[in-house]
Amino acid sequence: MLVPIAPGLHDGEAIREEYREKILADIAANTGVDLRDRIVFEEQFAVSEFGERYNASEGTALGLAHTLRQTALLRPNNRSSAVDGLYFTGSFTTPGIGMPMCLISGEHTAEALIEDCE
Ligand SMILES: Cc1cc2nc3c(=O)[nH]c(=O)nc-3n(C[C@H](O)[C@H](O)[C@H](O)COP(=O)(O)OP(=O)(O)OC[C@H]3O[C@@H](n4cnc5c(N)ncnc54)[C@H](O)[C@@H]3O)c2cc1C
Repeated sequence: MLVPIAPGLHDGEAIREEYREKILADIAANTGVDLRDRIVFEEQFAVSEFGERYNASEGTALGLAHTLRQTALLRPNNRSSAVDGLYFTGSFTTPGIGMPMCLISGEHTAEALIEDCE
């Protein structure tokens, strides 16, 4: 089950348990299938894991939000403006989040690198 939440929220045992119960109750109410006594394996992955395991800022799963000032060309550039020879790629940079955008970001970074080396 994927539950979108904002990054930086408090993450702990009690709140996870509360959400878990709400989600499972919601599935039971809306599908007529109660999964609670059928779970054989369960793993939770939330803000803390994204922060600790992937070093993601504020535990975000998706990088910078696409607010007006953080969209498309207004996102951080693939070339560092502060350090020569430093490049960025991925969901925090232009053009944005999601696999297709991140692959394009990688292409842009590779092109920038090649251009700078010529
Ligand atoms: C649950 C979920 C579902 C999603 N579903 C979709 C979907 O259906 N379609 C879609 O297009 N996108 C989806 N996305 C978004 C997509 O996965 C991301 O936008 C994309 O993977 C981001 O790519 P990235 O290369 O920027 O970062 P990541 O894929 O997070 O890669 C960053 C890598 O850097 C590593 N790392 C971090 N710090 C260090 C360090 N100090 N040293 C070395 N390595 C380090 C991390 O371990 C990680 O492997 C989903 C994301 C989530 C979380």
